[in-house]
Amino acid sequence: MNPPIPLREHEPMHRHSSWRAGGAARYYAEATTVAAALRLAAWARAEGLPLVWLGRGTNLLVRAEGFPGLIVAYRAHGWQLVEAGDTALLRVEAGAAIAGLARRIGALGWAGLAWAEGLPGSVGGAVVGNAGCYGGEVAGLLQSAELLLGEAGATWPTERLAYGYRTSALKSAVQSTDTPPLVLAATFRLLRGDRDELAAHMAAIAAQRKAKTPTGSSCGSVFKNPPGASAGQLIEVAGLKGRAVGAAVISPVHANYIINTGAATAADILALIDLARTEVFRQSAIELELEVRII
Ligand SMILES: Cc1cc2nc3c(=O)[nH]c(=O)nc-3n(C[C@H](O)[C@H](O)[C@H](O)COP(=O)(O)OP(=O)(O)OC[C@H]3O[C@@H](n4cnc5c(N)ncnc54)[C@H](O)[C@@H]3O)c2cc1C
Repeated sequence: MNPPIPLREHEPMHRHSSWRAGGAARYYAEATTVAAALRLAAWARAEGLPLVWLGRGTNLLVRAEGFPGLIVAYRAHGWQLVEAGDTALLRVEAGAAIAGLARRIGALGWAGLAWAEGLPGSVGGAVVGNAGCYGGEVAGLLQSAELLLGEAGATWPTERLAYGYRTSALKSAVQSTDTPPLVLAATFRLLRGDRDELAAHMAAIAAQRKAKTPTGSSCGSVFKNPPGASAGQLIEVAGLKGRAVGAAVISPVHANYIINTGAATAADILALIDLARTEVFRQSAIELELEVRII
């Protein structure tokens, strides 16, 4: 069967990960419509290829050996706002960048998404992982998510997503490479706010983010914080701040970040991930759980 839209073969995934590292995908495509996503998924099924949906690649790493199937970045990014007095419903397609959306909505005087100022990644990735920061998270304002489950569309209310800290019912489901669900769009509940106050609040968040985030290519926090503890502190206490493998280094600024300082490979990053897990377990008897996805 011929592929439905032009595919790239042996695509180096370092081009699509904010870590700037990662092996190649056997096939890679970008879908800007639901119809294109459906056709690509059907093609992968017909060819017996594993499938991964990608957002903006700010929370995943493809192993150096590469991925033998099809990786599709979902890029549809339209949005509509339906106002009803002092509330509004914002429907946005999953490929939209969440930080840009937060800014546009804030500038229109709608509150709810200010916390996402500067948050890397797409709306789809944020819905899957319950992204959150600076006092907010997706679970706090999501009304429903539109999904593609196999060939069927479905709308799930927030309760069905079973949100928890950086997790959801979708987080493990999307890691199946058989027929992973695709987040098509999300609907958020917003409240009318004051434009100037929102702008000031977002400027303060931007300044805090700038001060706290280590510079360089990364995927943000590598591990989830264990209950009652900080993954970064555990790694720091284990004496691993600044530890390097190849061009990958455990950030001397924030030990839960691994920075690619140049030409780090996925293997370099994974070696540091293993080291952090092993040492933290040896010294603190705590098993660190990954926040990032390894493919
Ligand atoms: C510098 C930096 C700072 C960060 N700070 C924060 C922070 O403060 N808080 C926070 O929560 N996160 C943070 N992150 C992590 C990242 O921003 C979030 O996890 C983000 O939501 C990932 O979105 P993405 O589109 O890049 O997802 P990707 O990395 O592309 O994918 C992540 C997972 O979601 C799946 N996925 C993505 N889109 C879809 C879709 N449409 N349908 C189905 N599955 C999909 C993928 O298959 C994968 O399993 C940070 C990252 C960086 C680089």
